[in-house]
Amino acid sequence: MPAPRTLAELEADALRDLELTAHPREPWLPPQRIGGAPILDVLIIGAGQCGLAVAHALKRDRVDNLLVLDRAAHGREGPWTTYGRMRALRSLKDQTGPDLRFPSLTYQAWHEAAFGREDWERMRWIPKELWNDYLLWFRRVTRIPVRNQVEAGAISPARTDAGLPALRVETSEGPMFARKVVLATGQEGVGHWWMPEHLAALPAAFRAHTADDIDFRALRGKVVAVLGAGASAMDNAAVALEEGAAEVHLFCRRAEPMVVQPYRWLTFAGFLRHLGEMPDEWRWRFMSYILGLREGFAQDHYDRVMKHANFTMHVGRPWESARIEQGRVVLGTPSGEFRADYLILGTGVRMDPAARPELAHCAHNIAQWRDRYTPPPEEANPRLGLFPYLDQNSAFTEKRPGETPWIADIHLFGIGTTMSFGPSGSSINAMAISAPRLAAGVTRGLFAQEMPRLYAELRAYDMKQVEIDPARLARPGLAAE
Ligand SMILES: Cc1cc2nc3c(=O)[nH]c(=O)nc-3n(C[C@H](O)[C@H](O)[C@H](O)COP(=O)(O)OP(=O)(O)OC[C@H]3O[C@@H](n4cnc5c(N)ncnc54)[C@H](O)[C@@H]3O)c2cc1C
Repeated sequence: MPAPRTLAELEADALRDLELTAHPREPWLPPQRIGGAPILDVLIIGAGQCGLAVAHALKRDRVDNLLVLDRAAHGREGPWTTYGRMRALRSLKDQTGPDLRFPSLTYQAWHEAAFGREDWERMRWIPKELWNDYLLWFRRVTRIPVRNQVEAGAISPARTDAGLPALRVETSEGPMFARKVVLATGQEGVGHWWMPEHLAALPAAFRAHTADDIDFRALRGKVVAVLGAGASAMDNAAVALEEGAAEVHLFCRRAEPMVVQPYRWLTFAGFLRHLGEMPDEWRWRFMSYILGLREGFAQDHYDRVMKHANFTMHVGRPWESARIEQGRVVLGTPSGEFRADYLILGTGVRMDPAARPELAHCAHNIAQWRDRYTPPPEEANPRLGLFPYLDQNSAFTEKRPGETPWIADIHLFGIGTTMSFGPSGSSINAMAISAPRLAAGVTRGLFAQEMPRLYAELRAYDMKQVEIDPARLARPGLAAE
């Protein structure tokens, strides 16, 4: 069958596909109000790929009264056109993602319609800017309501006029109310970008995190030291080299660089769909092994830095100390001191709910894995113990039950779900499974809250689907007369 030739044709196909699969069409959530004013059923914070995917999944289930907020300007959501310094995604180009397996909404369909089939065949990896363009197209075609440049703040409990649980969210445009909130706030969404304390203590002029806005031109002619051997560390090293740094040195603790990609191994339905249903010990065992390996860099990331003769990779050489001396940083390592002009830290994120303004009223009572599960000593990992321990709806659970029961209406979608469900929204490869699961967690709660009303509605339901002719109805007793 010929593929659509233009984006306009594809868009028409997509709308038709959405229409053909719209069953059941009837809305099932009656509008709710607080103080007489209408409220949302779901407020999604974050319009990156996770926020969009879950909005799409919810709309399929006729949860239409929703809104997605993002503090970033239109087109600047997530890492793709901001701090992401890779050239292309590391996901395989034919993976499905926020499309939730609607053929006409896939990246491939969009790419072929925009640039032609041959271009698709030629392309090895998806350029990050194109992925961003695709996400913007996707959200327009699926008619996901997004408001940009609105920042969400603290969440607190509220009640609807009908007495149902709801949440109040402070925002830069005033308070908003919703029955459910989905936090799709990105990699640092339940914590912060992290660096070791002795490096954080250095003056900011000497160091940056890979997620920071870095002036690479200012590094021309300088010696740059990069910490970490993940993809982001490699990408930042590459940009420093391309912008004319005199030397770039990448340091990692491991004796050998990480050359396998465990996320490739786990891309199968059994793992992606069911890990989250397994006992704690198995969830911990799998995910602590995978996250303990850390996500390595791919061949293209490596080739990009290896083109430069002034690049050196130091293995088995962590930074144990750091001080400023004569305008340079002196790093203490197990194999002697190293002097650099500037440090870039590819040290990832740390889970820390208390660091998030959205969670100001509940962070103290959000259960983390360390509160619920003690791994055997050989599997211990304090960093992973900080991940939130989520319920089956991907909602927060309480450390001390009864203190903040309303957090059961805050659902998390992003990297913070990893210990509970395995790779989730934050990985494109998992989305077709994880976004509908998250949406089901939201609708499960909404349905449960509605049960008394729905039961009364059922009992009152009298819509006839057939007209019976009373004259042809023989009733016992009457028939005998
Ligand atoms: C450099 C880099 C490369 C990656 N490459 C890949 C890849 O190739 N394949 C893959 O599967 N994964 C990749 N990932 C992992 C993951 O896919 C991305 O991090 C992805 O962006 C996650 O999507 P998200 O929606 O969770 O978060 P984001 O895309 O970061 O979106 C979160 C949004 O929330 C908004 N926000 C946060 N807080 C608030 C607030 N309080 N109020 C309003 N808005 C708020 C932010 O502005 C942001 O736009 C990569 C990650 C990084 C960092």
